[in-house]
Amino acid sequence: KIDVNQLIHNVSTNFKLKIENKKGKIIESLEAKSSTVYVDEVHFTNVIFNLFDNAYKYRKGRPILNVNTWNKNNGVIISVKDNGLGISKENQNRIFEKFYRVPTGNVHDVKGFGLGLAYVKKIVEDHGGTISVESELNVGTKFEIFLPIKSTKEWKKNTNFF
Ligand code: ATP
Ligand code: MG
Repeated sequence: KIDVNQLIHNVSTNFKLKIENKKGKIIESLEAKSSTVYVDEVHFTNVIFNLFDNAYKYRKGRPILNVNTWNKNNGVIISVKDNGLGISKENQNRIFEKFYRVPTGNVHDVKGFGLGLAYVKKIVEDHGGTISVESELNVGTKFEIFLPIKSTKEWKKNTNFF
């Protein structure tokens, strides 16, 4: 069993200096009271890392990250919100596809494989969870993960990624 609040806090600590170097900040509000869930520690750390990595890479000006957790329907919600470039409606439907990257513009000239979010979605769903995105172009993006506390006694790795 892993305490997701603790796991998120650890990833957040790793990004703190990077974000502060860009004169931004991370605002953590980890309010989930029951936050211990059956997740694979390594893969789930990567999941949270990917969301922070994207928020940093696709930033606009001073990056402000809001990271929240709370309990809902026998599960925990993890929300990672940024004030970055945002994603248009058409592209929001595609960002979870393998190898899909939003067509690169000048401000958007950062490297990536387009695999991060496909991996995130796969790992979350293998744990019986769901992920959703809300975004507005030039305003920011919010990812929300729902993880059930009870039903996911063990995560079921589906090896069919490619
Ligand atoms: P990788 O994660 O494999 O290194 P990547 O970051 O390009 O590469 P994803 O993490 O899957 O791939 O993201 C897909 C695309 O979605 C990105 O290329 C980017 O255009 C867009 N995107 C993802 N997260 C954000 C965000 N927080 N703000 C703005 N755009 C985003
Ligand atoms: Mg990425």
